[in-house]
Amino acid sequence: MSVKTLNNYINGTLCEPASKQYLNNIEPATGQVYSRLANSDAKDIDHAVDAAETAFPAWSTLPAEQRSRWLQRLADAIADNHESLAQAESKDTGKPIQLARNVDIQRAVDNLRFFAHAATQFSSESHATDSRTINYTLRQALGPVACISPWNLPLYLLTWKIAPALAAGNTVVAKPSEITPYTAYLLAQLCVDIDFPPGVLNIVHGTGKQAGAALTSHPKIKAISFTGGTQTGTAIQQAVLGQHKKISLELGGKNPFIVFAACDFEQAVTTACRSAFSNQGQICLCGSRIYVEHKIYEEFVAAMLAKMAQLKIGDPQDPTVDFGALVSAQHLAKVQSYLELAKSEGGTLLTSHKTLNLSDRCQHGYYLKPTLITGLDSRCRSNQEEIFGPVATVQSFSSQSEVLKLANDSPYGLAASIWTQNINQAHQLATDIEAGIVWVNCWLTRDLRTPFGGMKASGMGREGGFEAMRFFTEMKNVCIQYK
Ligand code: NDP
Repeated sequence: MSVKTLNNYINGTLCEPASKQYLNNIEPATGQVYSRLANSDAKDIDHAVDAAETAFPAWSTLPAEQRSRWLQRLADAIADNHESLAQAESKDTGKPIQLARNVDIQRAVDNLRFFAHAATQFSSESHATDSRTINYTLRQALGPVACISPWNLPLYLLTWKIAPALAAGNTVVAKPSEITPYTAYLLAQLCVDIDFPPGVLNIVHGTGKQAGAALTSHPKIKAISFTGGTQTGTAIQQAVLGQHKKISLELGGKNPFIVFAACDFEQAVTTACRSAFSNQGQICLCGSRIYVEHKIYEEFVAAMLAKMAQLKIGDPQDPTVDFGALVSAQHLAKVQSYLELAKSEGGTLLTSHKTLNLSDRCQHGYYLKPTLITGLDSRCRSNQEEIFGPVATVQSFSSQSEVLKLANDSPYGLAASIWTQNINQAHQLATDIEAGIVWVNCWLTRDLRTPFGGMKASGMGREGGFEAMRFFTEMKNVCIQYK
């Protein structure tokens, strides 16, 4: 099998890294190297930032309608290559092909189309102070900005950042995760195919420590939009302290999924299973702490195990598979270490799959059965730390005030899902819960106009809709007095 080479995309051209060094890229389903990516360093970042800086004046002054058309063209190119991109995403991440088709690639198209529209709808305020004084707010593009994205939803989250950045008139240097660079590379190829204006979008591959750190601390980078782990987000914040850059951080989560006895039981169980194990539990919004009212606790755990038993685990390329491989050997080892930790903390591990029954192709892949853990208290490390794998804990509660306390007893504050037929209870909890996103009787229902992000250790700032457009612009108040 030939090994593909994934080069950088700088100034409209696919190019080798300055060092000519490459890193291996592994297919998680098989454990085999199938491509190699540019191992970029500060020289490549300088090259990309220079290209972005040169492209900025023309791009930022292009009428919004024309920027919008470029984003639509990019969206069309992704839509036209939907299947090959879905295959690539599935291969690179280990996620089931159906998920890559229906969620990842579809959402990448939607992100670009949404912000193509936002470019033409974005407006700013004016304030009439008195009959002879008016203030208006100018919102101007910043310049070259950095977009850094993680491995769990590679093209989906990359486009979620670059689309508003470009729509608002900035030029971009993006660094995708070194673990899942494939669809970002294919996006670069599409940019070449459609003659996307050179330097407006640049994609540099490589490690976070080398390429990522050089990018975020680059003096010409005006803003950093980062999605990834809380530790990395903190490290970036510290590294650029004093540089006065705008920073948006979308970080980890340990999200409560709260089920009251008065709920649509079947729907709650089905969604709890989806919420805990979609993408092998590798979504920042996964409900990994499940709280169930004691009256239905036993019944709920049994029903959830029955649902888990229906998940077909296997080769991500198989369109009937629901549950694929974890992203890397290192990540698999990390998640497994949490299973050991949970046992040592007194937890009971419940799984519905005795064996994995994998095909030959997948025998060296990074698979792990979905697991529920019972018997842990809320203060233990298994309940406090983000595991980011197919592992959820279940605890029972007896009152609304108790479950609120449990839910908020976490360093994280990204999302929560509440299941109840009691409308007062829903509103009360939605108000009191410490999370940036609250779903009631649903999970992962998204409207791209709404603010997206977390509080506490889950991040700083919000993405989505005009919040993202505002982040990627500098505000200037102009006060005019006339006679
Ligand atoms: P990481 O924090 O390890 O990496 C995220 C990105 O940052 C990668 O591109 C990485 O490159 C890069 N990076 C690493 N170190 C640095 C550095 N010092 N300077 C600049 N860039 C750096 O996260 P993961 O990729 O492991 O993603 C999983 C995490 O992302 C989980 O915690 C999850 O909760 C969170 N996440 C949050 C979301 C949200 O919206 N709140 C959504 C999705 C995920 P490299 O890969 O080469 O290390």
